[in-house]
Amino acid sequence: MSAPRLEIHLERLHHNARTLVERLGHQGIAVTGVSKATLGLVEIVRTWVAAGVGSIGEARIETIEALGRSGLTVPMLLIRSPMLSQVERVVAHAAISCNSELAVLEALAATAAQQGLRHGVLLMVELGDLREGIMPVDLEPVVQRTLALPSLRLMGLGTNLGCQHGIAPDATNMAELSRLTTALERRFALRLPWCSGGNSANLPWLAAGGDPGRINHLRLGEALLLGREPLGRTAIPGLYTNAITLVAEVIEAKAKPSQAWGERGLTSFASPTAAAQPDGPPGVQRALLALGEQDVDPAGLTPPVGVTIRGASSDHLVVESAGSSLRVGDEQHFQPSYSALLRAMTSPFVGRCFVDGPC
Ligand SMILES: *Cc1c(COP(=O)(O)O)cnc(C)c1O
Repeated sequence: MSAPRLEIHLERLHHNARTLVERLGHQGIAVTGVSKATLGLVEIVRTWVAAGVGSIGEARIETIEALGRSGLTVPMLLIRSPMLSQVERVVAHAAISCNSELAVLEALAATAAQQGLRHGVLLMVELGDLREGIMPVDLEPVVQRTLALPSLRLMGLGTNLGCQHGIAPDATNMAELSRLTTALERRFALRLPWCSGGNSANLPWLAAGGDPGRINHLRLGEALLLGREPLGRTAIPGLYTNAITLVAEVIEAKAKPSQAWGERGLTSFASPTAAAQPDGPPGVQRALLALGEQDVDPAGLTPPVGVTIRGASSDHLVVESAGSSLRVGDEQHFQPSYSALLRAMTSPFVGRCFVDGPC
């Protein structure tokens, strides 16, 4: 089979999804499966739905439209604020969108009214990570205005931590989200269906006994796909961390000196401030794999045991192997990080295959 390719174990993905849906279900928390790192790969999304994931979250309307065309019927959540230029498509294809701008809410409402639809909105609250979200002090007037727009359905509040500054969900910021939810319900005499506490970064806090409070919804990507939490990249107990692997092929294998020679300048992919690459240990075999920056984020690859990644450029991954020597045509399996997976899924050069059954 051709390389590079992603080997996708749907059974393991099913297990990860089922395990988290059940584990969180005991705490009254529903799961939206976030498939953006796979570009909404329909086989994976179907696997999640079969495992009990009740809705799918995607950052791009193009992907939501494609999933709709593939016959998927679970509700779709646009997890990035809609662009004003795309509100028609958002209202037509996403049941719910995450929002933090009044101008967008107004445009969604006008479009939904025109289309004769009611569009669900989750208002995102800024709780410290400094990415999307309304500042808590500004929330009340936005809620008031949203409630005055009959073509919108206010689904509740959400927050997103961990993605910009790596701020961890903790007792303080999670209690704040619950408090804001309860305060708004009192102020406006209503019941908000969702309190969306965050993403995979919330799992360590919950596993350590964090009190969910009002939180009854999470949007999970990395934990379902890679079995890891994003803040420390630690494996989540009971989940597969090898549900998706990246396979690359050796195109050169030679004994070479451990030290480069000649005068040194920058390399194409080094930052101007990066230190020169250190020399390798003597006496190890070097190999080139047909895999590079155009296929994957090389910094996010975990190599097989005994293999060390020495560097990468657009099309080559340079590795050293200590033990058994690699030969031309050999395949090597790598574990991708979230960023490596995202780029591999985005690259037109990386194939995909589904490995079912035990292997
Ligand atoms: C990407 C994203 C998620 C999923 O994050 P994971 O860390 O993969 O679980 C959830 N919510 C929003 C708003 C996102 O952008």
